[in-house]
Amino acid sequence: MQERLKELQTEALEKIAQAADLKELNDIRVSYLGKKGPITEVLKGMGKLTAEERPKMGALANEVRDAISSGIEEKHKQLEAAAVEAKLAGETIDVTLPGRPMKTGHRHPLTNVIEEIEDLFIGMGYTVEEGPEVEKDYYNFEALNLPKGHPARDMQDSFYITEEFLLRTHTSPVQARTMEKHKGKGPVKIICPGKVYRRDNDDATHSHQFMQIEGLVIDENIRMTDLKGTLQVFAKKMFGEDREIRLRPSFFPFTEPSVEMDISCKICSGKGCSVCKKTGWIEILGAGMVHPNVLEMAGFDSKKYTGFAFGMGPERIAMLKYGVDDIRHFYTNDVRFLQQFSIHE
Ligand SMILES: [Zn+2]
Repeated sequence: MQERLKELQTEALEKIAQAADLKELNDIRVSYLGKKGPITEVLKGMGKLTAEERPKMGALANEVRDAISSGIEEKHKQLEAAAVEAKLAGETIDVTLPGRPMKTGHRHPLTNVIEEIEDLFIGMGYTVEEGPEVEKDYYNFEALNLPKGHPARDMQDSFYITEEFLLRTHTSPVQARTMEKHKGKGPVKIICPGKVYRRDNDDATHSHQFMQIEGLVIDENIRMTDLKGTLQVFAKKMFGEDREIRLRPSFFPFTEPSVEMDISCKICSGKGCSVCKKTGWIEILGAGMVHPNVLEMAGFDSKKYTGFAFGMGPERIAMLKYGVDDIRHFYTNDVRFLQQFSIHE
C-alpha cells in the first residue's frame, strides 16, 4: 500500500510537470485528489491493516495528497505567469516598423507670396489693414475720386448686389476707410491685401476673382521720390538685387500723377525675350501720389499732407516669381500643381 501511494505521487507529479495548460492541470487535480481518485481507492484497503500501521498509512496518504496539491498549485502559478507573458509578447509594438506617412497639406503659393510681401512692408513700418468684400459704392468709388457717372468706373466692370452695395473691385476702399478712421491726422502707413471681384471672363491672365495688395502712405512732406525708393526696395527684395525698375506715366482716378512700374526682365537681362514681349521690361504694379480730392474727401488737409499709393496683383507677382503661365492654376486647386510649392513651408 505504501509503495502504491508513493507510485501515485511520482506519477501525479510527472503529469503535473507535463501539463500544458490550466485545463489539463485541473483534470489532473480531479483525477488524483477527487473522491473517486486512486488515492481514495488505495485508502479503502486500510481496513486490512493493523492498528499500528493505520495511522502511519493515514499520515503518508496525507503527505502524498499535500505533495500533489502543492505541485498543482506551483504549476498553476507557472502556467498563469506564462499566459501573461505570452499575451504581453503578442501585444508588443515593433517600434522599428516604418510608420504610415500622413498626408499633410501646405500653404497655397498665393498665401506664400502675400505673406512675403506683407513681411517686407511690415519690416518698413507698415501695418496690415483689412476690410469687407461686400462694399459700399461710396468707399469703392466715390471716396476715391470716382463720383457716379465717372467714365473711369467703366474700367472696372463690377458685380453690383444692390444700387448701393457691390463686390469690391479693388482693395482701395480699405484705404478710404482707414483714412476716414484717422480723422485727418497723419501719418498713415498701411498695406491692404484681399480678394477683389470684376466682371471679367476667365482666361490665362484674367479671373473674375483675384487678389490685390495695395499700400498707402500719408504724412507731411511725402514726395514722389519716397514712392520710387519704396518700390525699388520692394522690387529688389522680391525679384532679386540685380533688378532695375522704371516708372512710366499712367492714369488712375485716385492718384495724380500716376505711374506704372516695370522691372527689368530677369530671363533676358533687358535684351528682350518672349516673356517681356521683346521690351526687356515687365509690368508689375500701378502707383502714384494720392489725389488731393481723395485726401480732402477723407478729411485730410491736402495742403499739409501728401501721400503715395500703390497696388499690385499677387497672382501676377507669383506667376513671374514661379514661372506660372496661367492665372487659373491658382484657383482650380489641382494637387499636382499645388504640390510643387510644398518646399516653401
Ligand atoms: Zn525678357
